Amino acid sequence: MPEISGKLRAMREKIYDDADIGAVRLRKNPRSRRISIRVHPIRGVTVSMPYLVPYAAGLRFFLSRREWVLGALERQRGQLASAPSVSEEEVEMMRRQAKAVLPGRLAELAGMYGFVYGQVRIKHNSSNWGSCSARGNINLNLNLVRLPRYLSDYVMLHELCHLRHADHGPAFHALLGTLCWRHLEYLAGAGEEVPAGAGAGTDCERLLSAELRRFRLV
Ligand SMILES: [Zn+2]
Repeated sequence: MPEISGKLRAMREKIYDDADIGAVRLRKNPRSRRISIRVHPIRGVTVSMPYLVPYAAGLRFFLSRREWVLGALERQRGQLASAPSVSEEEVEMMRRQAKAVLPGRLAELAGMYGFVYGQVRIKHNSSNWGSCSARGNINLNLNLVRLPRYLSDYVMLHELCHLRHADHGPAFHALLGTLCWRHLEYLAGAGEEVPAGAGAGTDCERLLSAELRRFRLV
């Protein structure tokens, strides 16, 4: 059993210094029901544990999963390093372009497929491509202008479908799946780019969501 070296940070936290990972925080949390491990590319590794569980048990738990933690940390740090970064100017250019094209395109799609929404806003965040509020307002991420049109249309169709179904349940996916198929047919008919592999019998929504995962929000 290795020792928990390092100082007692607060009454509720001890640090275990791991040779490869560095500081691993063993943190007692009154709200924890069981021991759990969080891995973050910048904040590092935190073992969260119920108040009455001894630190040694938290450390044993961490050590039993150390290989997994190392792998997860390396993967996350690799992703962080390969994430593209953009300057303020580039963001402002995307914002101008997004304001010029996205609201009009959303209105077109809503008109084509019979949706009525409230307001549309252009946002910049790293958590979602778009969102739809309970009041029927739609937010679109300015990163959408970096996508091929069939993919930015896909995100907008996804948000429009939320006007009828707030969750991601079967009814939502049935509606979105039908619209994706119809819309790719429409784009192909208009001579616009569609993803390779789209055609009769393909699950168009799955194809589009797989394509979307290749892009990162910047
Ligand atoms: Zn959604």
